[in-house]
Amino acid sequence: MSEKENLIYVNGKFVPQGQACVSVFDHGFLYGDGVFEGIRAYNSRVFKLKEHVDRLFDSAKAIDLNVGMTKEQMSEAILETLRVNDLTDAYIRPLVTRGNGDLGLDPRKCAKPNVYIIAKYWGSMYGDLYTTGLKAVTVGVRRVAPDALPPNIKSMNYLNNILAKIEANAKGADEAIFLDNCGRVAEGSGDNIFIIKNGVVYTPPTIGNLKGITRATAIELLQEAKIPVKVEEIGIFDVYTADEIFVTGTAAEAAPVVYVDGRTIGTGKPGPVTLDMVKRFEKITQTTGTPIQK
Ligand code: PMP
Repeated sequence: MSEKENLIYVNGKFVPQGQACVSVFDHGFLYGDGVFEGIRAYNSRVFKLKEHVDRLFDSAKAIDLNVGMTKEQMSEAILETLRVNDLTDAYIRPLVTRGNGDLGLDPRKCAKPNVYIIAKYWGSMYGDLYTTGLKAVTVGVRRVAPDALPPNIKSMNYLNNILAKIEANAKGADEAIFLDNCGRVAEGSGDNIFIIKNGVVYTPPTIGNLKGITRATAIELLQEAKIPVKVEEIGIFDVYTADEIFVTGTAAEAAPVVYVDGRTIGTGKPGPVTLDMVKRFEKITQTTGTPIQK
């Protein structure tokens, strides 16, 4: 079955995906010099649109990149991309690159940014694993240090994450768990991590990992459920000895982890706090958000 030709937003115009091309001189392509977001729409609404657009602009600010449009214009462009593609449930990928320059890395050579928005249907990332749980491994490659490239910037330089994923794939795992240079648990290759011990939920602070929007939602949902949640550094010992673990991300949503490095977590089945989180997360995504239609 041939895939539907979606319309892609390219610098203010909608272009059929087969013709939506990036210049080889785009510094996003040449150097990973750009920022992006991953957003989901559910049931005709965009979940946490404002938070994602804010983070996109914060990422841009951190790399001294002027997006060249307002947040309102960006939000409208995202909604319009969904409308022209008749999408009610989708994964949305806005990207802002430094723009087209020359072969040197100097960003001053790029006159204006390029803005692309891709929106496509993308169902659940982990399928049956939401009920059975993921197998995760810690990886040898460390999360890039915040004083080298702050992981809070959602930049187009994702090689650190890809190296982690390659290692996880080679070890037959569903997801990688990154440690930082001091051996503290940072995050997954594309998600934040939560562990549960004796009824308390712990998640690491976000100096060395992405300030996940799903992470923030999960913390809100836990507070609403009156489950104590602490933002605190965690080590690998805490992971191995946790009663439950789940990861959160826009693509991954809320997903249970039941094995780490061959250790069974809790009973080896998703635990009650995690299952409740999966349910609450599904409810909030189905019932809140910015309506796509005007
Ligand atoms: N960490 C990394 C490295 C990610 O790529 C993502 C996905 N954006 C997350 C965490 C989760 O962030 P969010 O919940 O905002 O999607």
